[in-house]
Formats: sequence, C-alpha cells, structure tokens
Amino acid sequence: MKRFDVIIIGGCASGLVAAINAHRLYPEMSIAVVEKLPRTGKKILATGNGRCNLTNINTRCGCYTNGGFAKTALEKYSVEKSLEFFSSLGLKTYTDSEGRVYPTSNTAASVVDALRFNLDGIEVITGEAVTDVKKQDGGFVLNNEYRCNYLITATGGKASPSQGSDGSGYALAKALGHTVTNLYPALVPLTADPAVTKPLKGVRIHNAVITLEKNGKSICPARGEILFTDSGISGIAAMELAASLERIKEKGADIFAVIDLAPDMSREEIIEYLTVLRKENRRDFDSLLTGIIPKAAGIAVLKKSGVKSTISGFSENEIKIISEHIKQFRIKVTGTKGFDCAQVTSGGVRTDEINNETMESLICENLFFAGEIIDVDGICCGGFNLQWAWSSGLTAGELGGKAQC
Ligand SMILES: Cc1cc2nc3c(=O)[nH]c(=O)nc-3n(C[C@H](O)[C@H](O)[C@H](O)COP(=O)(O)OP(=O)(O)OC[C@H]3O[C@@H](n4cnc5c(N)ncnc54)[C@H](O)[C@@H]3O)c2cc1C
Repeated sequence: MKRFDVIIIGGCASGLVAAINAHRLYPEMSIAVVEKLPRTGKKILATGNGRCNLTNINTRCGCYTNGGFAKTALEKYSVEKSLEFFSSLGLKTYTDSEGRVYPTSNTAASVVDALRFNLDGIEVITGEAVTDVKKQDGGFVLNNEYRCNYLITATGGKASPSQGSDGSGYALAKALGHTVTNLYPALVPLTADPAVTKPLKGVRIHNAVITLEKNGKSICPARGEILFTDSGISGIAAMELAASLERIKEKGADIFAVIDLAPDMSREEIIEYLTVLRKENRRDFDSLLTGIIPKAAGIAVLKKSGVKSTISGFSENEIKIISEHIKQFRIKVTGTKGFDCAQVTSGGVRTDEINNETMESLICENLFFAGEIIDVDGICCGGFNLQWAWSSGLTAGELGGKAQC
C-alpha cells in the first residue's frame, strides 16, 4: 500500500490547482494526484475552443447555480487572486472586450503547461482510475492500493466524458456518505424540429434573444449568438438555456424556443421597413428580408408567415404577420445533445453537505471537494466554470488550515 498525506483524485482544472496550493502551504507533506487518463489537464486543452477562457472579470456569485454557497470561495480566491496565482506559475493573460480572460499565447496548452511545470514535489499517478474508496482507521484507502489522511475529490462531473470526467466521482462521493442531486447536461446545443432547422444549417444570428416557452409561459431569456445546425440550435445563447430545458422537460409537454431574430428593431420599425420595401417593390421574394436577417432565415420566416404573393401584393396584415415571425420565430425543441456534448454538468454533490469556507465535507472528516463535482455551475459561457474550478480547488488545497504531517 502506497501512503501519502494527501491524495487528490482527478488531475485537471480544480485538482491541479488544489495540489499546487496544498504543496505550497504544506511543503513537508507527501501529496499525490491520481488521474485516470494517461496525462493530466486534458479537458483544459479543449476549453475556449483551444484557447482556454480561464476566467471572466465580471464573475460574481449570481453567475452560478448555488451562488450563495460558492460566494466565500469566489471571494477568497477571486478573479484577481486566481490570476495572481497563475502569474506565480508563469502564465500571462489578457482580457477581451467582454471581460473574458485568455492566456496571452492564446493557446490552452500554455495553461496546462503552467500547471504541469509546477507539480515538482507532487507525485502524479496517471492511467489510474479510482473505482473504490473507503474510510479506514481515520484515513482513506483507494483501490486497496493507496492510503491517505486527507482526500480531495476533484473528478469533475459527467459532461464531455471523452475528456475523462465520466461521472465516476459521484459514486465515490456516495460511498463516503454524500448525496448527489439530479444531474443535467448544461452549456450544450439544443435539439429541435429538424424540418425547421435543417434548411437553416450554418445560419448564425448575432445578438439574438432566445426564450423557452412551455404552456404559453416564457422562461429564462438568453441573449447572444445562435447558430442553426441540422439537428437543432447551437451558439452561446442557445447553450445557456440547455440546463433549464432539461429541468422543465416532461413527457407530452411541448416546449418551444422563441427567437427574436432582430432584437435591435421593434415590431413597428420592421413594419415600417417592409412597408417601404412594398412601395419600392425592388426585391425578389427570397431576398425580401436580407436587409435585416440572413437570407435563409428570411425564407424560413416567409414560409412560416404563409405569405405567397409578391411584395407589392402584401396586405397590412401580412406585413404584420411577417414582423411577428421575425420577433418571435418559434421552433419546437425536443431536448439537448446530452452529456457527451455538454461543457458542464448542472447538479452534483449537495452543497448543504459541504463547508463553503473550506470545501470540507460536513459528513466525512478530512474529505474535501473541488470543482464541478459540487452542485455549482456557471450558468453562462465566458470563463465562469473554470473560475469555480480555481476558486474551489485553491480553497480545498488549504485542507481547512488544519493539516499536519
Ligand atoms: C469542450 C469544453 C469547453 C469548455 N470551455 C470552457 C471555457 O472556455 N471556460 C470555462 O470556464 N469553462 C469551460 N469548460 C468547462 C470547464 O472545463 C470545466 O467546468 C472544468 O474543467 C471543471 O473542472 P474540474 O476540475 O471540476 O473537472 P475536470 O476538469 O473535468 O477534471 C476532472 C479530472 O478527473 C479525472 N477523473 C474523473 N474520474 C476519475 C476517477 N474516478 N479516478 C481518477 N481520475 C478521475 C478526469 O479524467 C479529469 O482529468 C469547458 C468544457 C468543455 C467540455
């Protein structure tokens, strides 16, 4: 049996910062990271389209589910403190106009390198999935092979399992007495009626407003880019609605995505625009709306509106109907692309079972949690989930300030 003072299960975002912080605070302790994949940091490489959007200067607890729980760690290891930490690892960053922070090199590999090159003095065991954990004689025994006094579980959720996080951490948490909430894929494209989306494949609407509608009630609007695909709707604004959609989905109930394709124009402005076009009568039918929305979207709007005549023959009512469909383009949505394609898991180990000051379990002494395994997720794209990984991981690495050799 190999013995360590501290073992961190999961060698990616939250696990690596937890390990580095624990080593800095307790240099005399033996620390190991146990990672199931052949290399550490794989998921970070996939983040931010390979650029790693590592945080966002607009981070606040309102950006998270269970933000009240997350607040203490987010304040202690704030964006500023997290960036200081990365700077101490030798990583330089920049902030874009929307507050998103990226490595100066614009490659996620730089973030992984910064972490990996600071693992000296920490044993990194790769290619080892932890499948069994027991509390024994005041410590923890993993896979009947490793023993430790302090255990940090940083296994991620079950989103994007090809990057390592296959949900196996939940079984470990349960084995140590914890409860796991319902789990939903989050930040993932929506699936929708292909008869509507297929002809629109590749059409991108910048700055659309998209809202879910169930039983005539509107839920959670999101604003930003949407992209139609052959199976549904992608783009940041659509992806931000995924977890809510999964939560309200129920058999037999129709849910619609209602999209404002031209949010910067009012209905009246659209009606006025179309009235001028009718008078000028210079456009062919398919190109009628290209002045305000992409051509394919315009064709779909005209199809939904059921208008058949040429522009010069449009009635006032037909113009009004077209404007309604531009402002409220409705598509029946059927679900999401699921955990395989999701960036994040919504749900996890219950937050009322964890001390939010230390990330220590309130059920099992000397057990700590970090990252996405906890029921905290950033509801928007833009660096919030990695910020949670850093804040919770650095906090967990403090081992509640009570560690002894
Ligand atoms: C494609 C994609 C793009 C993303 N882009 C961004 C972005 O730009 N900005 C942002 O803020 N967030 C982004 N995210 C989300 C972000 O990557 C995660 O929220 C974050 O990595 C979670 O950190 P974590 O340490 O909790 O888990 P993970 O980073 O998932 O790490 C968990 C690690 O534990 C290992 N592991 C799991 N189970 C076991 C086990 N039983 N035994 C041993 N090891 C185990 C896994 O192999 C993995 O290495 C993105 C996610 C994806 C999938």
